[in-house]
Amino acid sequence: MTFPPLREELRGLEPYGAPQLDVPVQLNVNENPYPPSDAVVADVATAVAEATRTLNRYPDREFVELRTALAGYLGHGVTPEQVWAANGSNEVMLQLLQAFGGPGRSALSFAPTYSMYPEYARDSNTAWVQGKREDDFGLDLDRARAVVLEQRPSVVLLPSPNNPTGTALPPEAVTVLCEAVGDEGIVVVDEAYGEFRREGTPSALELLPRHRNLVVSRTMSKAFALAGARLGYLAADPAICDAIRVVRLPYHLSAVTQAVALAALRHAPELLGRVDQLRQERDLTVSWLREQGLQVADSDANFCLFGTYPDRHAVWRGLLDRGVLIREVGPDGWLRVSIGTAPEMAAFKQALAETMAATRAETMAGTEEGQP
Ligand SMILES: *Cc1c(COP(=O)(O)O)cnc(C)c1O
Repeated sequence: MTFPPLREELRGLEPYGAPQLDVPVQLNVNENPYPPSDAVVADVATAVAEATRTLNRYPDREFVELRTALAGYLGHGVTPEQVWAANGSNEVMLQLLQAFGGPGRSALSFAPTYSMYPEYARDSNTAWVQGKREDDFGLDLDRARAVVLEQRPSVVLLPSPNNPTGTALPPEAVTVLCEAVGDEGIVVVDEAYGEFRREGTPSALELLPRHRNLVVSRTMSKAFALAGARLGYLAADPAICDAIRVVRLPYHLSAVTQAVALAALRHAPELLGRVDQLRQERDLTVSWLREQGLQVADSDANFCLFGTYPDRHAVWRGLLDRGVLIREVGPDGWLRVSIGTAPEMAAFKQALAETMAATRAETMAGTEEGQP
């Protein structure tokens, strides 16, 4: 027996995570590049100080005040009983799989999809089933329905806008899948990037009254510029929220987390104030990449996927050598860049142009040498 006596299926695996490198321009994990203002810092600090006065006690296990504030933020008639939260939407997702997945059950997503999902399936002993998106990274609804009817998954995971492609799904896709799954399962629309949607792309929140098996997941990590606080949440039928309460750890949301999230929500307009700017910067980045002759997936998120390169690692490395960290993720040959500030995007464009010029020069030198 090798030590430590790990579960068989976990042996030799590396923990998930993008490289956390100390480089000047970090465009690799879809963070909001704007830190909180002094006013927000002061208000959060006061709220934490207040919460500290009662840290001898366990926090409100049902975090009613926070659920109420999140429901208010979501709108669409969502009530506090329809809201659940945890330490990042990644924990929300794991809890969903603990409650609705498990041995003898399966979770389904359509690739390319968020790379964490299969890990939560594994950790909760849920079988992982992967369908496929089309060449434009959208879903063919007949094919998607057929996969559901054949596989009968207990949980369908649909990031929209999708990570790593940025693709948002139309409401019909959600409806088709909710109907195909029926009462045998739940459909989780992961709207981590929901606030970055382009004009005219609706949120799945609008469909909640029509499908009791629909879960819409959100996070404060991206548009809300609060990745460090770890707060994710969902809106769903109250029966689904109740079911999660069975598997959650007691007091999983610390009093400090609750206080920080509540204070941040009071500043929602300010924290979200840069979203429009980031959407514009995204659209400019997409256009610029296309002008360079590259393929770029249409994006409703705060990043874009571009390519394709015969050796994407060399391009990723070329950018890193120039102080710009992006992400090597997605289908073969593609790279993903998060949208940063205007100066950061200028640095990215320059680094990419230089890297591509250097690669072209090398390729041409190679061809010439190879010629008789
Ligand atoms: C970033 C991201 C999340 C958010 O994760 P948190 O745990 O809330 O920080 C969720 N889903 C997808 C697809 C993401 O890309």
